[in-house]
Amino acid sequence: MAAPTTDRPRRQEQEPASTEIAEMAPGILRAQLPISLPGLGHVNCYLLEDERGVTVVDPGLPGPQSWRALVARLKSAGYRPQNVHTVVVTHSHPDHFGGAGMLRDRYGAEVISHRSFRTWFDAAEEEEAVDDATEGTDDTAPKVEAGGPFGRQLPWRADTTFRPPVKRRLHMLVWRHALKRFVRTPRPTRRVDDAEVVTLARREWVALHTPGHTNDHLCLFDPAGGIVLSGDHVLPTITPHISGLVAGVDPLNAFFGSLDKVAALNGVTLALPAHGLPFTDLAGRAQEIRDHHEERLDTLRAAAREVGDGSVEEYSHQLFKPRSWGQMAESETYAHLEHLREAGEVTSRDAGGTLRYALVE
Ligand SMILES: [Zn+2]
Ligand SMILES: [Zn+2]
Repeated sequence: MAAPTTDRPRRQEQEPASTEIAEMAPGILRAQLPISLPGLGHVNCYLLEDERGVTVVDPGLPGPQSWRALVARLKSAGYRPQNVHTVVVTHSHPDHFGGAGMLRDRYGAEVISHRSFRTWFDAAEEEEAVDDATEGTDDTAPKVEAGGPFGRQLPWRADTTFRPPVKRRLHMLVWRHALKRFVRTPRPTRRVDDAEVVTLARREWVALHTPGHTNDHLCLFDPAGGIVLSGDHVLPTITPHISGLVAGVDPLNAFFGSLDKVAALNGVTLALPAHGLPFTDLAGRAQEIRDHHEERLDTLRAAAREVGDGSVEEYSHQLFKPRSWGQMAESETYAHLEHLREAGEVTSRDAGGTLRYALVE
């Protein structure tokens, strides 16, 4: 999932899924699977070919519709589901892991994710993974509670709990339902660490842990071929949603670190994102995304100077246009305010259950 930015014309990430299979590089094909989320019309599912068959990267949403599309795309590329020996899931959003459980359980595919992979669909897995995800972090940091985001208290306001907009909520309920009925919760069979090497498509990929959009985001880098599978971490024209509702102190800071990490890679000539078209200047795009967030931080600094003291909701109205107002916008604003607080630029105080942020004098 990624939040749409504010311009109206349709962006490449919003284009409906193509049924064409396109070659990106030797042994790397791109299929597209349909999704319908705010700001997104498809997910790129990359097919990595080798002598054993094929690896799929990010096999779409859970549910029969996406599964049928995946089987049809595999067929167009000359494969059947039983030829899929490996699934790579770049991160724990449903548009990326949908077909993984089916490919593992029914066809015995290996499922690769980052070490910290976790979803909020399965409360048991959530509890077991919380320890992982919070390892080495400040114990006072806000934690994601078991049971998923529904009904969870928002850290910045006591008067309400997390409720995505109705359309999104319906999507989420459909996913949950589909997951229970049709697709198993994706339990990775191989959790990789940063810098670990994975051989796929006859290429040696270096695993890059890139937290920010989610804590568990994984990119893969083929240094010999100059190719990066960038997932949702770096998208061509939209900026991935940075949620304040994740475990860890400062997700925006983590995201900045992950942007710098991919910008510093040597010899990248092709970035293959999970949404939208391939692009060549990964470092340049990472810098643009960073600049976008730096601008938002400047907007918040200016707003804080002006109003003196404001709630997350009030600040979110400075960053987002009215049609985007709501909890997604507040969550991202909260991440930015917490970043400024960690940097010692603002303080927060609890005013009757609502956090209010002001500049440090
Ligand atoms: Zn996505
Ligand atoms: Zn995502």
